[in-house]
Amino acid sequence: MINLLDLTYDELEAFVVEDLKQPRFRVDQLFQWLWQKGVRDFSDMTNMGKALREKMAGIATITWPGIAKVQESRDGTVKLLLRLHDGKLIETVLIPFKDRFSQCLSTQVGCAMGCKFCNTGLLGFERNLTMGEILGQVLVGRKFLLDKGVGGPDGPSPIRNLVYMGMGEPLLNLDNLLRSLETLPRENGLSISWRRSMVSTVGFPEQLRILGKTELALPAISLHAPTQELRAQIMPKAARVPLDELMQCLAEFPLRPRERITFEYLLLGGVNDSLNHADQLAKLVDKNRVKVNLIAYNATEGMPFSAPDRDQVEAFEKRLWHHGVTAFIRRSMGADIKAACGQLKADEQ
Ligand code: SF4
Repeated sequence: MINLLDLTYDELEAFVVEDLKQPRFRVDQLFQWLWQKGVRDFSDMTNMGKALREKMAGIATITWPGIAKVQESRDGTVKLLLRLHDGKLIETVLIPFKDRFSQCLSTQVGCAMGCKFCNTGLLGFERNLTMGEILGQVLVGRKFLLDKGVGGPDGPSPIRNLVYMGMGEPLLNLDNLLRSLETLPRENGLSISWRRSMVSTVGFPEQLRILGKTELALPAISLHAPTQELRAQIMPKAARVPLDELMQCLAEFPLRPRERITFEYLLLGGVNDSLNHADQLAKLVDKNRVKVNLIAYNATEGMPFSAPDRDQVEAFEKRLWHHGVTAFIRRSMGADIKAACGQLKADEQ
């Protein structure tokens, strides 16, 4: 049976008009029940006749991911381990941001990129998520927050913006990524505004060019090393795209005034955190078009990396500013609940 959450608005229209033989106004009604009201049972769609509801229930489902485990951090971060219809596990994280939340979404079960510092990379790749599974994380996250009293039925959504930064490489699930980005800002739906989403990727030029043309989201590039050699050591598969080719593609990524491309730089103690590395990084990036997020690695059992010194992290940031590069040390949220990508699932397995 078809999961209605896997259908874009246009596909839902075809379902209503062609399969159900219903008038067009039913499309908006159904879309609103699915995405704005978050209904999971056809019998709750009270503005639709009983016969129509039964017909839909006979050929379609509304399948949300189930919550397998919840971890709440002292800083307000919430991590949800979700079970998909086939038993596969993924993670999503809700991060407090002013009076609302940012949500970090997974796009694949596992990841094929095998970055050396990443738990998800160690688990390997299992499969892509469908659009319904990607946006189903938002439905589950929003309900979780509403049940806790964050936001209200008539107020703005408790989720303000999204980062595609959970398990998986979003640009390797490009079709479902783009379908989800198109669905997000629609009226009577999740209503997460245009360009309130950021796609975190190790960087694939062809797919980045497609993303740029859609103007639906900005990229955050997982760079983590300022040279091709060092990147190849810690991100061997990502580094198959030469750094100069990636930088050339980013130089052409369309930006609007005040928009910047984010570079994520995970500081690994003694590996990529020296002032020399900061100098190399400053030389690599176009300081007028980027900002750099510095993240201090949290030492994890069984991983061959250590946390950088606090002083070193601050000196690294200062050095980038000295070169005119906008850089921020990102607060590591949810450290006490293992909010780093793939840690909860790794524990569970
Ligand atoms: S850091 Fe991202 S791209 Fe690399 S293995 Fe982990 S999930 Fe995949």
